[in-house]
Amino acid sequence: MKVIEKTFEVTGAVSLLESQGKTVGFVPTMGALHEGHLTLVRRCAAENDVCVVSIFVNPTQFNNKHDLETYPRNLEADIKLLQSAGCDVLFAPSESEIYPEPDTRRFDFGTLDKVMEGAYRPGHFNGVAQVVSRLFNIIKPTRAYFGEKDFQQLAIIREMVKQYNVPVEIVGCPIAREESGLALSSRNQRLSAEGKAAALSISKALFGSVYLKNEKSVSELKAWVIDKINSDPMLEVEYFDIVDALSLESIENWDETDNAVGCVTVYCGDVRLIDNIQYGKFN
Ligand code: AMP
Repeated sequence: MKVIEKTFEVTGAVSLLESQGKTVGFVPTMGALHEGHLTLVRRCAAENDVCVVSIFVNPTQFNNKHDLETYPRNLEADIKLLQSAGCDVLFAPSESEIYPEPDTRRFDFGTLDKVMEGAYRPGHFNGVAQVVSRLFNIIKPTRAYFGEKDFQQLAIIREMVKQYNVPVEIVGCPIAREESGLALSSRNQRLSAEGKAAALSISKALFGSVYLKNEKSVSELKAWVIDKINSDPMLEVEYFDIVDALSLESIENWDETDNAVGCVTVYCGDVRLIDNIQYGKFN
């Protein structure tokens, strides 16, 4: 595996491979890698001639300075994990490589970037679109892999590619979970043992809600999930919404869509966790 820090070098390496007719798969990450990231990397390596992964903790997508400062970073461990997962090129740029000048672009993705995370983390998706569009421009991948764990982010990336005609295939990958059900996340490293035990209530409530879907209205089910999670004193739901998987608009009745998804954000102390469940997948 090659580790590259410079933009011109990675652009050169990838364009050479593409000129040889090779397909290039790309997995953008912020590092502190875990099995969830590695499911994307393995799939990317299996489906493309070349697998490129980036590690860049993107400052423009953090609306909270404390969150940016405490975001876990372990490049050495990440390099070992990527080697074992089949990554060919790791692009690990500094901030000045990605943003030689401040990025002043403002994106607008309609409803998609205004609801849920967009409402609670102002500017977050604008920063995501800034960095992903720059990375796409540098790498020019054939396919790019994103996790359904960040369900709204995936919808926004699809929309960005559509709006700007970026010639890349976006591949969504299922959420990787611990045996217990807890969605894998770099932020789980910041949970205490008690916090981690408490956090299990999040996936339990989401999976439990699948079984209650036929008995409860949308608003009853929302209230049930929120109560279930908040009943643990260590947890506090920021929002739980049930939305159409494509438009991300809240639904009021189950018959409004075949593809409802429940998206939740929960604070466990100062650690912010997100998870979601696609009700359509269980019909
Ligand atoms: P991050 O490093 O958090 O920016 O994540 C990089 C990519 O990995 C994103 O596309 C995430 O959605 C994806 N990812 C993170 N955690 C998981 C998980 N538990 N399952 C599947 N994909 C994930």
